[in-house]
Amino acid sequence: MTTTHLLGFPRIGAKRELKTLLENYWKQEIDEAALLAGARALRQRHWLLQKGAGVELLPVGDFSLYDHVLDAQLLVGAAPPRFGFDPAALDAEQYFQLARGNAGQPAQEMTKWFDTNYHYLVPEWHADTAFSAQPQRLLGQVREAQALGIHTKPVLVGPLSLLWLGKAKGLAFDKLRLLPGLLAAYRDLLAALRASGVEWVQLDEPILALDLPQDWLDAFAPAYQQLQAGAPSILLASYFGSAAEHAARLKALPVAGLHLDLARAPQQLQAFLAGFPEDKVLSAGIIDGRNVWRADLSLMLRQLQAAHAQLGERLWLAPSCSLLHSPFDLAAEIQLDADLKSWLAFAVQKLNELKTLQRGLRRGRAAIAGELAGSDFAQQQKQGSPLIHRPAVRQRIAALPADADRRASPYPQRAARQQAWLKLPPLPTTTIGSFPQTAAIRASRSAFKRGELSAADYQKAMESEIELAIRRQEELGLDVLVHGEAERNDMVEYFGEQLSGFAFTAGGWVQSYGSRCVKPPIIYGDITRPQPMTVAWARFAQSLSAKPVKGMLTGPVTILQWSFTRNDLPRSEVCRQIALALNDEVRDLEAAGIRVIQIDEPAIREGLPLKRAERQGYLNWAGQAFRLSCRGVDDATQIHTHMCYSEFGDILPAIAALDADVITIETSRSDMALLADFGRFRYPNAIGPGVYDIHSPRVPQTDEIRHLLQKALQVIPAEQLWVNPDCGLKTRDWPEVEAALATMVQVSRKLREELAHTA
Ligand code: GLN
Ligand code: ZN
Repeated sequence: MTTTHLLGFPRIGAKRELKTLLENYWKQEIDEAALLAGARALRQRHWLLQKGAGVELLPVGDFSLYDHVLDAQLLVGAAPPRFGFDPAALDAEQYFQLARGNAGQPAQEMTKWFDTNYHYLVPEWHADTAFSAQPQRLLGQVREAQALGIHTKPVLVGPLSLLWLGKAKGLAFDKLRLLPGLLAAYRDLLAALRASGVEWVQLDEPILALDLPQDWLDAFAPAYQQLQAGAPSILLASYFGSAAEHAARLKALPVAGLHLDLARAPQQLQAFLAGFPEDKVLSAGIIDGRNVWRADLSLMLRQLQAAHAQLGERLWLAPSCSLLHSPFDLAAEIQLDADLKSWLAFAVQKLNELKTLQRGLRRGRAAIAGELAGSDFAQQQKQGSPLIHRPAVRQRIAALPADADRRASPYPQRAARQQAWLKLPPLPTTTIGSFPQTAAIRASRSAFKRGELSAADYQKAMESEIELAIRRQEELGLDVLVHGEAERNDMVEYFGEQLSGFAFTAGGWVQSYGSRCVKPPIIYGDITRPQPMTVAWARFAQSLSAKPVKGMLTGPVTILQWSFTRNDLPRSEVCRQIALALNDEVRDLEAAGIRVIQIDEPAIREGLPLKRAERQGYLNWAGQAFRLSCRGVDDATQIHTHMCYSEFGDILPAIAALDADVITIETSRSDMALLADFGRFRYPNAIGPGVYDIHSPRVPQTDEIRHLLQKALQVIPAEQLWVNPDCGLKTRDWPEVEAALATMVQVSRKLREELAHTA
């Protein structure tokens, strides 16, 4: 009989219960015992829900109080030694110190989990890192599940992925040298699981979706050879991409099963089915764990037919990856359009889809005729729906000339035209867009949303915030002003709410890290901009000052990247649609006299495909979309872009190819290391490296900003250099912002004088 299982379930809870528990614990409103009891109750509720939906083999160990990669480090006794904790006796307080830092030690670094928006805590490896199995916590959860009569499969990050995802600290050394010690700890862990009655264990090796060096690939066979002795049956899970190029290697591994992501890479099934070993299970990750669309059951049954005929009960069914990346329950969305809702599936619905597929395979299509009809109907209705398809959008794209994404003149000519009217001093100062989102601003916005504040009163409230921001910037002496983004809740949501083709959920939260969740918009249809989105605010702001005020937009790639997107249109095409909708806005801003326009693209780097071979293609269409968003602007209009919190060093040519007149970019945290890359690369246009970290309440000192700018001047010609903070200032308060910007302006003026002197 085919087995259904999950790689993991959203641990945050239907109502973000885990978030509440964590935050109450951090505020010391509940104690450790209450936190742990709450977490246990949540785990149990989730298991019972999965069991109730008929899933047969349930994950344990996918739950985490903060991060499953942190938990994996602790399972092998490898908390960073700089904290000085005893790995065998770590309490909740210490656990959170690893994740969030303490008075003496910064938190472990956080970075993105592959190409998802989940962030994990980066393990810290030293040449002498010692490992020891610490299975207590996991065994406790296994027993909890067993006590509920649940058939469990513990899930762990696999040893090679764990090692790969960590950073080597101290003197350079080859991380693979740690593998023998790590494997010994994993063996002990696996033996302990087996001793407590566990039959199956899932080891996640998502690094199989990357381009791995040969020595790492070669390490798989001996590693798993060592692990399987004395262990429960091992299901090795790959996801987030194709593992087809490793098919022969993986089929030969001494493991009991392989899991494949057939949502991302359906074509890899062929490579695995050919000569699939008789003694292994193949887990088909057929239900998309990364997106929100209802499964096309007919199509999936067809896709699985050959595998089922060949493997019979050795074919398992699962979502493509952990449901951690999926919102919890669609049933809670009572205000969504009924048609749209019938096309969606969140985690809870995906469980049912899994079960239906299983019945279809087991008993034939007739046994699920009703479900198939429902699924087919939804697919057909979606294909023809005017909610989704707007021929004018397609026609507009098809009619674009080949050079639609090119500015009229090259940068040097544009810069001269811009400077002719801007008349900016050297080292011009600006900010990134947002000013403090004060309690008053948030109160007005939510009163407006609840209908307690009229549109006219809301507008007045926001205008007075804008006026305040403009006045303060003039007093500070900044050169290019911003309106402050008081009216924006979120830089993607604000635009999505005004564009057609976007929907918003009430509770579609997905964990980003720890207690932090995001609620991505759902792009379901062709995108248009029915009316101007920012023009009135921008025009009002500009009317208050003789200095230029930047129009402020979120770029097409970032809007795409931070949304759930359509599965019936390539990402590149959706991005192009967003770009043209934004272009309408850019043109309207320009016509309204806003002639400095910033198009933020902080997420451009995170869209980079995991596989090197696919990267250039992505960068090409992403760059084209950005340029299309500024299509047709006058040479004298100055286009800015902004990027932050990613490693940009390896995509500089693509950043240059955006051809923005000015880029402002976060750099201060790396002490301008990124800037050295820009210098080496001879970045052609103007650039404003962030001169202070906006995440800290600390006001930067004159010397620090001066030091950074002097460093910048060593690699960037003064004519190209702008001065600005790292990112937007919405999380800060006004006294900090005013003090920091006053220092920034003053340093810039001083350096200007010195430059004039030496010239
Ligand atoms: N303009 C936005 C702001 O200042 C940019 C935010 C971002 O880069 N994430 O808030
Ligand atoms: Zn930023």
